[in-house]
Amino acid sequence: MNSIDDVFVTKRGRRCVLIQGYKLSENKQLKDRTFHFRCTNRKCNVTAIIGEKLDLIISQKNDHNHPATSENILNRQKIMYTLKRKAIDDVFTKPNKIIRKVLKDQSTVNISHSDASTSCKSLNEVVQMLNKQLN
Ligand SMILES: [Zn+2]
Repeated sequence: MNSIDDVFVTKRGRRCVLIQGYKLSENKQLKDRTFHFRCTNRKCNVTAIIGEKLDLIISQKNDHNHPATSENILNRQKIMYTLKRKAIDDVFTKPNKIIRKVLKDQSTVNISHSDASTSCKSLNEVVQMLNKQLN
């Protein structure tokens, strides 16, 4: 049985789980309090029932018809999430400072050169978002 490697929240506030490099997003909560998740690839039919605490895969249907999400994209989303959380926890620190600190902490994240411009753009978006939230 596969295990849940990570749980995080997307920019839009949607909860996601990472299972073997595949990202599934929350669809709905079922009557027994478990959650129905589906693959974030719209052409893919994989769905999974995840336990109430998002720590257990109860069942999974179908097979992915596409390669797993690249590490870099996932890392970037994790950085975003960390940034957002830190900004909420630490309202007295300027967003730019928080971003620098988070990026320093995430020194293991290996963003390739071609990827760097994309992440810069995304980070700028985060800065703007944080500024909006904090003002
Ligand atoms: Zn899939």
